[in-house]
Amino acid sequence: MRTDLFQGHDYFNMDDLLTEEQKLIRDAARAWVKQEVSPIIEEAAEKQVFPKHLLPGLGAIGAFGPYIPVEYGGAGLDQISYGLIMQELERCDSGLRSTASVQSSLVMYPIWKYGSEAQKTKYLPKLATGEWIGCFGLTEPDHGSNPGGMITSYVEDGDDVILNGAKMWISNSPFAQIAVVWAKNEEGRIHGLIVERGMEGFTTPTMKGKWSLRASDTGELIFDNVRVPKANILPEKSGLGAPLGCLDSARFGIAWGAIGAALDCYDTALRYSKERIQFGKPIASFQLQQKKLAEMITEITKAQLLTFRLGQLRNEGRATTAQISMAKRNNVDMAITIAREARQMLGAMGIMNEYPIMRHMMNLESVITYEGTHDIHLLITGMDITGENAFK
Ligand SMILES: Cc1cc2nc3c(=O)[nH]c(=O)nc-3n(C[C@H](O)[C@H](O)[C@H](O)COP(=O)(O)OP(=O)(O)OC[C@H]3O[C@@H](n4cnc5c(N)ncnc54)[C@H](O)[C@@H]3O)c2cc1C
Repeated sequence: MRTDLFQGHDYFNMDDLLTEEQKLIRDAARAWVKQEVSPIIEEAAEKQVFPKHLLPGLGAIGAFGPYIPVEYGGAGLDQISYGLIMQELERCDSGLRSTASVQSSLVMYPIWKYGSEAQKTKYLPKLATGEWIGCFGLTEPDHGSNPGGMITSYVEDGDDVILNGAKMWISNSPFAQIAVVWAKNEEGRIHGLIVERGMEGFTTPTMKGKWSLRASDTGELIFDNVRVPKANILPEKSGLGAPLGCLDSARFGIAWGAIGAALDCYDTALRYSKERIQFGKPIASFQLQQKKLAEMITEITKAQLLTFRLGQLRNEGRATTAQISMAKRNNVDMAITIAREARQMLGAMGIMNEYPIMRHMMNLESVITYEGTHDIHLLITGMDITGENAFK
């Protein structure tokens, strides 16, 4: 079992910009991760299991719906606090952050923003504590980057609808109690439905064989004539903009989370470089290794500044989808580059599970693909600055 020696790195005194409450929330999340998750994360990733015993703890540190109002069981925090919690979780493992992101931004957020009062009261408090876990079904086997082409659909039948179709690559699906599922109605318009485990014809097979995000469960959602009460349809928003609004919130969390993974790789490589002796000197004294470290902390610092400003804009309700896209794309790319460089700095030791770098590196291959691929985010920026849509 590895001792977690991580220390934060704050080259541009970003802490001066945080409130006392934000620092307390960040430090509490960091302490919980060090005590409860770091000792078991390598084994969970190796065995490819999500450590479910962590769910109440994630609820207790406010990782489930940090910005959901207190009246619905959330922590009522601001967006920067949400970001800081995601940073601390992904500092340990992207899979841990994924579980919290999905629950917060892809399940609680749509219920809070688009749900009825009865839906909010029924689901949000249990989701906030981790008693219930949710998942988000948008991607289909034949519709990933183009979710608007989905074929999952429902027809009305009295007070219910009958749902048919399949979703793939769904985080948390194998053990989730509920799924927020995006499906087309008879007119072809996309709506969100809350599907509960136990509804007849609804199954959630696990997807095995991932070399990435191994400590996060991924599965399918299969709907075979599932009867869902109309009362489970999210009434306040429909159309593709509804799921995309959830993705804005999740991508914002990923932009912060990726900084956490990068910090952990940098911190590990910096410490190792001071201890590892070659040619009679610590490798930290060689210019080539210093170049790697100097570029890492420069890129981390730029990402921290970008993301803090994005947090301010989001707190003011002014962050655009394109701004969030840019931050997600930049920060994940930054983190994966740092992970690859850091792995090389550890030489052969870099491939071992004694250090977290290889796990981060493999995890980030999912993070750079999900919630909009690296390419798709570039196209979003391109469309925003030119007014031309290059998707089709
Ligand atoms: C571990 C994991 C967990 C996930 N969790 C969830 C979840 O909880 N819920 C959910 O709904 N989904 C989830 N996803 C799915 C994820 O969002 C999709 O994988 C992603 O949107 C990409 O879709 P795709 O894999 O079908 O790739 P495709 O869309 O088939 O893309 C393949 C390649 O083509 C490129 N491409 C596609 N369109 C264009 C274009 N117009 N121009 C240029 N290049 C293009 C892409 O950039 C990519 O490189 C998860 C995925 C992973 C790996």
